[in-house]
Amino acid sequence: MTMTRHINVKSARRIEMLDITAEVAAIAAETGIDEGLCHVYVPHTTAAVTINEGADPSVRRDILATLNRLVPETGDYTHAERNSDAHIKATLVGSSVSIPIEAGKLALGSWQSVYLCEFDGPRHRRVHVNFIRGGEGGHGH
Ligand code: ZN
Repeated sequence: MTMTRHINVKSARRIEMLDITAEVAAIAAETGIDEGLCHVYVPHTTAAVTINEGADPSVRRDILATLNRLVPETGDYTHAERNSDAHIKATLVGSSVSIPIEAGKLALGSWQSVYLCEFDGPRHRRVHVNFIRGGEGGHGH
């Protein structure tokens, strides 16, 4: 079976990484799923989702600084909206992540957090969180 929930996020800057781990974990707990998969997806072309370091904020800073260095805001772009860098960054980072659910919890590592990556804010973003319940057939561990 599948279930879908949504998280509404409001970014405050043009480019930032917003920690949505607590929201995703709370929704996952509400589903009551013991074993399964949590899929986090953004239906946007200038935002992305990723999993990375949650403890030291300098990692986020370094990721964003590196993306800005690789894909500057202005350059040899033709897209009329003038936000080509945001589109390219979103494609590099990706529009979804999947997290296993084990023993009723997201199987994130101690240092991992789930981030909505904003590349053309500030904006309202809607994150889709889909759940697949596993363990049918009684072969769970
Ligand atoms: Zn555009």
